[in-house]
This record gives sequence, C-alpha cells and structure tokens, in this order.
Amino acid sequence: MLPLQEGLVYGPVRSRRLGHSLGINILPRHVKACTFNCSYCQYGWTKAPVREAADVVETWPSPGAIAKAVARRLQRLLGTKDAPDRLTLAGSGEPTLHPQFQDVVTDLRALRDTMAPDLPLAVLSNSGTLDLPGVLPALNDLDERYMKLDGGESAILRRVNAATVPVERIVEGLKRLKSVVIQAMFVRDRLGRIDNATDLAVVNWIGVLQLIAPKAVHICSIDKPPAWPYLQAVPLPRLQEIARRAQAVGLDAMAFGGVGRGTAAR
Ligand code: SF4
Repeated sequence: MLPLQEGLVYGPVRSRRLGHSLGINILPRHVKACTFNCSYCQYGWTKAPVREAADVVETWPSPGAIAKAVARRLQRLLGTKDAPDRLTLAGSGEPTLHPQFQDVVTDLRALRDTMAPDLPLAVLSNSGTLDLPGVLPALNDLDERYMKLDGGESAILRRVNAATVPVERIVEGLKRLKSVVIQAMFVRDRLGRIDNATDLAVVNWIGVLQLIAPKAVHICSIDKPPAWPYLQAVPLPRLQEIARRAQAVGLDAMAFGGVGRGTAAR
C-alpha cells in the first residue's frame, strides 16, 4: 500500500499514461478523502464515507497555499532534466471535493500561464462528484480531464468502486465535459465477487462509452498492492482485447501494461 501524500506537491512521477507528471495533492493531510472506496485503491480503504467537502472534518489547504507550493517546486524544476511535462491535480482522494475547487483551478491556471504556459494542467477524477455545485465548470477550465469509469452498470460500480452514485448520473455529467479521457481499471478477485472484465461487463461499458463519446479511452489493470487483498490484475492480452472491442465501435482506446509502457492494441 502507498502512504498517503502528505505534501501539496509530489514527484514528478513517471506515469503509465501521463508521462512526467508533477502531482498536486489538494486534499487535507493525514486522511484519504474520497467519495469512492475502490477495491484496487493504492491508498487502502476509505475510512469514512464522504459525499461532499462538508463530510470531511480535516482542514483543506487554501488555494493560495497550493499555488505557492506549486510555484516553489516549478521554480526548482523548470529548465532541469526533471522538468515536468504536465501538472496533475490528484493526490490521496478525490480532488474535486475541495470546497474551493474553482479557486484552486483559477489560481493554478494563472500561475501556469506565467511560469510555464506550455504545461498542460490536468486532473485525475473518479467522476463521482459531477453533480456537486461548481464541479463541471471548474473541470472544464482545466486543459485535460482524466475521468474514471470502470463499468457501464451501477452494480459493477458498486462492487468495484463502492460507488453510491448511479451510473446514469455519472454518464450525464461526463457528457457535459469537454474532450474527456476515460480511464478504466479492470480487475478480478479470487473469490468471484468482483470482475469487470467479463464479456457482458465489457459490452455494457462500451455501450455507455458510446453515449459519452470520449476523446480517448485508457485501459489498465493494477500494478500496485490494492486495498482488497484478493484482487488480481487482468492480464495485458485481455486488456488489449477490450481495447480492440472499443476500437471496433470507433473509440480511440489503448491498453496500458506495466509502468511506462503504453501498449497500443492496434
Ligand atoms: S477514486 Fe481513487 S482515491 Fe478514491 S478510492 Fe478510488 S482509487 Fe482510491
């Protein structure tokens, strides 16, 4: 299991899908604050259920403190071999839960425009907060949106992510985002309770993707110890097969293997 991110900025980390990404953790310290409780979460189980920022008692970092920390780190990294190629809002939980999420985005955009105008500002989100006030416009103010969707049925999302939001509501939100990239994690467990890589689950997931019409679809499986110890990775050949099925209906889908290896199923 990974320890929680305690700083406001981490990395740059080399990501399978995002290249050399400077992580920005806008969550409170010492707690995983998330609306989901994914079986594969690398930070372990979510201790207390969260639906909105008010459910989190810990202190959220202010937009000013976040921007200052990012500026300090960028100053050190720009022009060196470790310079990032992307700034990514992520961290130990769901970043869109931040009660001033729009201000965080606005401040980071201003900072990026001044210090490194070519650096894309991205977010990794679980897609479960799109119905909360202000989240959609703030997400649309970013350059890149990597949005989780691990299945096309609410029952699958309940088992894989412990999601309480119905899939229809998630899909409605995703349809209103600009050029969205869907990120899907395929997993199975040894007890037969969790499996979103069956033929039926994949057919239903692709059906929902066709409604969303994403810019791209990133398909992967676990490569770090998950919260649920009985969980297993779905082998790369099956991920590639899932990608080919998505491509067959016109989606720009790619299966990713181990760290740093983007494996196109073409
Ligand atoms: S959405 Fe991300 S942080 Fe939240 S439980 Fe799932 S994997 Fe963990």
